[in-house]
Amino acid sequence: MLETTTADGVQCLRMARTLLGRGRYFTAAYRVAGLMVDSGCAHALPEVLAAVPAGSVRTIVNTHSHEDHVGCNHWLQQRDGATIYAHPLALPVLRDPRLRGPLHLYRQVMWGSPLPAAGRPVPEVLETALGRFRVLPTPGHSPDHVVLFQEERGWVFTGDLFVGGEDRASRQDANGADLIASLERVQALHPTRIYPGSGHMRTNPAAELVRKIEYLKELREAIVRLRSAGRSVGAIRRKLFPKPMVMEALTLADFSGGNLVRAFLKEAGA
Ligand SMILES: [Zn+2]
Repeated sequence: MLETTTADGVQCLRMARTLLGRGRYFTAAYRVAGLMVDSGCAHALPEVLAAVPAGSVRTIVNTHSHEDHVGCNHWLQQRDGATIYAHPLALPVLRDPRLRGPLHLYRQVMWGSPLPAAGRPVPEVLETALGRFRVLPTPGHSPDHVVLFQEERGWVFTGDLFVGGEDRASRQDANGADLIASLERVQALHPTRIYPGSGHMRTNPAAELVRKIEYLKELREAIVRLRSAGRSVGAIRRKLFPKPMVMEALTLADFSGGNLVRAFLKEAGA
């Protein structure tokens, strides 16, 4: 399923697999003045191609290489001749989506497997009809993550760097120290709006950013304290996230509380 809305020159494409009558684990792409921020998931390809007018995509910037953000790259490049940009660490995965091994079954089921697409290192600045976008490296959710900042309007397209609520799980490539530093980098931009990878745009996100960063810092302190007391990763997870997580079972622990604990035991940049 795909829901699309357009406001203030930004088309939001929010998409998900429908299971038991409901969309699950939504991902979003945005189209702004010939620029697409992410391209959505492969399963939604026919709907994305129908919702995005032919010839309207000049540039795609992938915020990171996870399959739910790069899934329509190949076809938008073929159809519109779009130039694809991403962080240099993401480019080998865009070229060969199986580089890190076969996609986990749940990721194939939920979002689908992208086809290979050629990308270039993303420049620091992109000029569009809607003004200038600055591209900022923001590792943490993944090492190859960037956000886009539209300076005049104060809008930040945050990909999966900003996820609402309190994190209780992550993928293996997350890094807690980087995540906090990158969120503080976004906070320092004093954004008027955040366009996140979930598709739920926030206006005046300052208070939510403060809460998010405080939560992650408290979580880091608790994890480090328990580790110093000799607790194992599993024991820390059980102590801090005692409720069972359906997602953890569905993903065979690819998206798990243990990964989030380990993310806060890594050095920055690790
Ligand atoms: Zn992601």
